[in-house]
Amino acid sequence: MQGGSLHEHNPWEQAKSQLASAEAHFALPPLLSSRLEHPDRVLEVSVPIAMDDGSIKTFQGFRVQHNNLRGPYKGGLRYHQRVDMNEVKALAFWMTMKNAVVDVPFGGGKGGIALNPKELSEGELERLTREFTRKLFPVIGPSLDVPAPDINTNPKIMGWVADEYAKLRGKKEPAVVTGKALADGGSEGREEATGLGGFFVLSKMLQKFGKDPSGMTVAIQGFGNVGSFLAEHLEKAGLKIVALSDSKGGLYIPNGIPSIAAVEECKRKSGKLAGCYCVGTVCDIENKGKLGAQELSPEGVLTLPVDIIIPAALEDSITEENAANIKASIVLEMANGPTTFVAETILKERGVTIIPDILANAGGVAVSYFEWRQNLDNEHWDKEKVLSLLKEKMNTATEAVWSASQKYQVTLREAAYLVALERLEKSFDSAKA
Ligand code: NAD
Repeated sequence: MQGGSLHEHNPWEQAKSQLASAEAHFALPPLLSSRLEHPDRVLEVSVPIAMDDGSIKTFQGFRVQHNNLRGPYKGGLRYHQRVDMNEVKALAFWMTMKNAVVDVPFGGGKGGIALNPKELSEGELERLTREFTRKLFPVIGPSLDVPAPDINTNPKIMGWVADEYAKLRGKKEPAVVTGKALADGGSEGREEATGLGGFFVLSKMLQKFGKDPSGMTVAIQGFGNVGSFLAEHLEKAGLKIVALSDSKGGLYIPNGIPSIAAVEECKRKSGKLAGCYCVGTVCDIENKGKLGAQELSPEGVLTLPVDIIIPAALEDSITEENAANIKASIVLEMANGPTTFVAETILKERGVTIIPDILANAGGVAVSYFEWRQNLDNEHWDKEKVLSLLKEKMNTATEAVWSASQKYQVTLREAAYLVALERLEKSFDSAKA
């Protein structure tokens, strides 16, 4: 997060400003409007655990159930030092909108624990996750609220949630959580779903813009689950990835990073991207000059002279401080809420197109929905089926957002909100009937 006004950096206020901006084009029934401005339920829990050294530490956990008009609450669990109630409320709200845009029968929820997971051992993380699950037990379940992975949480952690829930429930109910490992009832294709979904959205939007993707230059902020799978697909499709960054730094190679796979392997081994100057399989500082590479700060990636920037880390990365320096003409929002409301106004005036988060990163929840369905029906779908259904879902959602933007002459974000609000209003009307 960068400096600036308090409001500018409160994600929940940002989310409500986005809603208001969409509502200016679409008159919602006042009762529905109020239900969207206020989460259904917020829960704050204490999560005390024994640390490996015998000391006791208590962490603060959150779950926000924003809205369930369209189905069970659904959204990830984030482990990060920045997690707080305002962040979780915003993320839960965005899930309500996203699930409506991609048309899966879920409402919106989100949760998390304020901590730096890198400071915990695996045993401590497991005890923490199991205790958190015990605290959430009364309010989660396959038809009530279904968590999933997010920043710093992964299939192993989801497996602990499912296992602890099963112990408390007295039977296995894998559909209580998605993003599990295959052995725990996870779905084929879930790990890569968000990145691949973003790739489908970008490809279709470029067609709509009349742009040829091959050779377009790309810079990506965040090289975790989402950023790395997306980078692989973009590389395969012939786009030129010139810069990548993670929380510790990054690299910029104006002629293009020769191999994403080699950089992934280097980051896996060294724990960071910085210094991953790879030629073939050899990643070494010696290659820096040969590649014409430059070092980057985690944020520096966003203001490079490229065609497309992809924030895929945390919210609040494009702000009023750096928006005027952005040189790309397209922003593909893979992170949730990476662009503040003020920054968006600046970008709009400068003619920069934002492909919004609630469409761009909806691939994860689309495959989470497929996982949930497979669990409920006791089925296992092959990867080909999952990925082709994902493509269909993302293409349909992209078409819907594009046509709304044309019909109402609004930004793609406002259009995505309009698609979501129309669907939410339908559920609201039928709930009343
Ligand atoms: P992750 O934990 O796997 O990776 C996050 C990455 O961001 C890491 O590489 C980390 O080093 C980097 N990062 C953190 N702070 C940074 C900074 N200041 N500058 C540059 N890089 C920074 O998380 P993820 O699952 O890839 O999630 C990334 C984003 O995508 C989040 O906003 C998340 O909410 C969103 N998202 C994830 C999914 C999913 O299925 N995982 C689905 C939808 C949206």
